[in-house]
Amino acid sequence: KKTTILVTGGAGYIGSHAVLALQKSGYDVIILDNLSYGHRELVKEVLKVELIVGDTNDRPLLDQLFANREITAVMHFAAYIAVGESVVNPSIYYRNNVVGTLTLLEAMLAAKINKFVFSSTCAIYGMPQEIPMTENHPQDPLSPYAASKFMVEQILEDFDHAYGFKSVAFRYFNASGADPQGNLGEDHHPETHLIPLALLTALKKRDSLSIFGTDYKTPDGTAVRDYIHVNDLASAHVLGLEYLLNGGKSEVFNLGNGNGFSVREVIETAKKITGIDFLVKESDRRPGDAPILVGSSEKARNILGWQPQYADLETIIDHAWSWHQKRHGS
Ligand code: UDP
Repeated sequence: KKTTILVTGGAGYIGSHAVLALQKSGYDVIILDNLSYGHRELVKEVLKVELIVGDTNDRPLLDQLFANREITAVMHFAAYIAVGESVVNPSIYYRNNVVGTLTLLEAMLAAKINKFVFSSTCAIYGMPQEIPMTENHPQDPLSPYAASKFMVEQILEDFDHAYGFKSVAFRYFNASGADPQGNLGEDHHPETHLIPLALLTALKKRDSLSIFGTDYKTPDGTAVRDYIHVNDLASAHVLGLEYLLNGGKSEVFNLGNGNGFSVREVIETAKKITGIDFLVKESDRRPGDAPILVGSSEKARNILGWQPQYADLETIIDHAWSWHQKRHGS
């Protein structure tokens, strides 16, 4: 009999790739997603797993689910992710990301399920004091979004101490790319991320792409980020789950590829991969952006045996491009 994993937010970008990776590793998956941003067709047509449309804040629904189904562990992707929006409307970020997670954790405790894989973020570190950033970097969440992830990590630590609740929290750097088969990809509304925006501009869905800041103290003046392929994130989640199933203790891990790429490098690579020269404008810095964010993932490599497969930017953008062409037809 297969082990069943509940994946919240499995109809979204990173969650859907994790569901595919879990299936390939022989797990049964149930998705819980409120479809506020997730995609129903994706679950039905590509993942072909059971979808429960519901919210992590719905305790009766969770109790019923855990009572009726034999669920061994939970992977929790369901969260709001827009930093700018979280500054304008922090209430929904704390309600969904913190209170919703707490409700889920309480339902798990009541059902005696104590293995949890959590999506966290490198945004909890704030402005980098050293590059590459390790898990020991000082923490200084600069937005309600980052604070919401920081708070959940605190809750997980305290739950382990008090209740023996075991978790792995993954602090992602810049999730990007798409499943190489082209059936899954990044489809946010509204889109704010650099790589999909560049590809949407190449597809003429947008008139131009803006570079946010050209006066950073970086080699070409634009901000540098650690772009990590979403399939590599997904494979880390399966390893994190198996680590917990094998009795591993609670841990936090960075997930990045350790290489930094500037905004200009991303744009040049997008032009090269698509073969389309699109309009690029230079504009002001985006508030709250760090000049450089590059992570060290040595800990995940050492403890989980994680090995990213798609660390080069061309591959990441090539896979994202296949998906965008399919999604938007060209
Ligand atoms: N960026 C940009 N133009 C855009 C979107 C993003 O220049 O239209 C920059 C952004 O300022 C950051 C980098 O690209 O330096 C990556 O941004 P993204 O929003 O993809 O991820 P973040 O690093 O904010 O998580």
